[in-house]
Amino acid sequence: MAWYPRATKLELQPESDAQPAIRPTQFIVHSVVAPWDEHRIYAYWRDSTSLESHFGLDYDGSLGQYIGTETRADANAGANRRADGTGAVSIETASNTKASDEWTAAQVEELIRLGVWLHQRHGIPLRICRTHSDPGFGYHSMFREWSTSGTACPGAARIKQFREVVFPGIVARATAKPTPPKPVPPKEEPVAITAEEIAELAAAKVWSHPVAKLETGEKWTAEAQIRAPHTVAARIEEKVDALTDLVNQLLAAQKDS
Ligand SMILES: [Zn+2]
Repeated sequence: MAWYPRATKLELQPESDAQPAIRPTQFIVHSVVAPWDEHRIYAYWRDSTSLESHFGLDYDGSLGQYIGTETRADANAGANRRADGTGAVSIETASNTKASDEWTAAQVEELIRLGVWLHQRHGIPLRICRTHSDPGFGYHSMFREWSTSGTACPGAARIKQFREVVFPGIVARATAKPTPPKPVPPKEEPVAITAEEIAELAAAKVWSHPVAKLETGEKWTAEAQIRAPHTVAARIEEKVDALTDLVNQLLAAQKDS
């Protein structure tokens, strides 16, 4: 039994315990032909029919799950559970009473997220089903075997969305490369400087002061070179201060004498 973390769990009994296990290999989308939220769809399965889907999706994108995805649900006739134990995961989606409206942006987003999860969790392959028993993604009216007496579900507008937005969205999201982490600048490695390099730098009068003091093989870093002039300036400042003090003392002594 697998429960999708983004769905509100509205477990349907006795079906959830009574119905046989499946190995989910397909995802089939439907329109419920009513503007129902996930709770109203749940009540319909519980009170008014022996059928049910695994999921119910409201216009605002809120999602309910009624049956675990590894248990048979009875929304797709021959695809519910085949003799080999494979079966389809089904979702009913809120629609107008003619099933002629498009899915809302919120519904499209949730269909994509759920599709990605089903691919990752159950290995449903990222393709549109090629036959009624072929693993992949589909919509209810795609194959005659998926309904008891034929259907136009989920409606022409949504079939177009399924092919042009929802299924490509699932593929894009499932195969997207994770954004690479920001490159961290490499920590500077001290390098040993050679006599030739010291001579070269000194001749070019680049880094002349500190470089002149380096011995061959001594560790050299650009950072140390950048800091060096400040260190030198601070030392000079100290000396100037000391000299100023000395001059003042001498002047004072001269005055006294
Ligand atoms: Zn349907």
